[in-house]
Amino acid sequence: MNRVTVLAPGKLNLTLDVTGVAENGYHTLDMIMQSVSLAERVIVRRSGELRLRLPGSFVPANESNTAYKAALVFFRETGLLAGADITVKKAVPVRAGMAGGSADAAAVLVGLNELYGAKLSKAELCELGMQVGADVPFCIVGGTARVTGVGDILEPLPLCPPCFFTVCMPKGGISTPQAYARYDELGTDARPDGDAAAGAVRAGDLDGLCAQMVNALEFSSGSPANRPIEEILRSCGAKAALMTGSGAAVFGVFTQREAADEAKARLLRHYPRAWVVRPVARGAHVVESN
Ligand code: ATP
Repeated sequence: MNRVTVLAPGKLNLTLDVTGVAENGYHTLDMIMQSVSLAERVIVRRSGELRLRLPGSFVPANESNTAYKAALVFFRETGLLAGADITVKKAVPVRAGMAGGSADAAAVLVGLNELYGAKLSKAELCELGMQVGADVPFCIVGGTARVTGVGDILEPLPLCPPCFFTVCMPKGGISTPQAYARYDELGTDARPDGDAAAGAVRAGDLDGLCAQMVNALEFSSGSPANRPIEEILRSCGAKAALMTGSGAAVFGVFTQREAADEAKARLLRHYPRAWVVRPVARGAHVVESN
């Protein structure tokens, strides 16, 4: 095998609550995460050296890149004396709260595992992924999950009820540390009930889930800028509208494709980027190998 192509979905936070601060200073969270059909395409080729390219992206292709870090962790932990030529075709917006960087790391781990026949289990890949970032294990497993701890404890849930998400990326993103610093300073005005939200997912109850779709970081990170986006989403019929992760992307939940498309068209009159995406059941997975 010389070349493996991996598709790695981004995610949306259907809920996000901050439950405390862990000993290492990280915030503890209670979230429902959902993989979506906006996905990174990562090609991993056999090579003696480690090389990374991100054509068309401004994200630096150096040691700070999550894809590069994931490759180093893989080679260190497996003891394989090899390299790889990695091409990341980004589709997930950067600094959006959609885990694009974590999806790239997940894709590299899954791709290298296949390319070099390392036969690591999903659980073992998740352990390596944790060393790169808290969202990487979710990006490996994918689907719908309740995620707690510092983002490292995954409880798989049945796939969320069928729906369409219209996602809008306002200009400029937010850095995750900045978002948590603002939360520590300002707190929040609303929190989801994680048990009720997970119960609604298990029952296939989209309305019950939408009633719990709240992001506790939104009050401190984004609410004034997000409000006009959420107004457009709701005026087009969204059952819920909120920010994902630590921002900056905002999304709405629709039951009808036409309404989701209409919301996208209206958002594009005011904002540079918008997408209609669907929930997907898988994380990073090989789509081609030869
Ligand atoms: P999350 O939901 O995990 O918080 P995010 O959307 O906020 O994700 P990313 O887009 O994944 O954040 O990453 C943001 C930062 O990480 C950027 O400032 C970027 O320079 C750095 N970074 C490193 N590697 C990558 C990568 N492969 N893709 C995107 N960003 C990367």
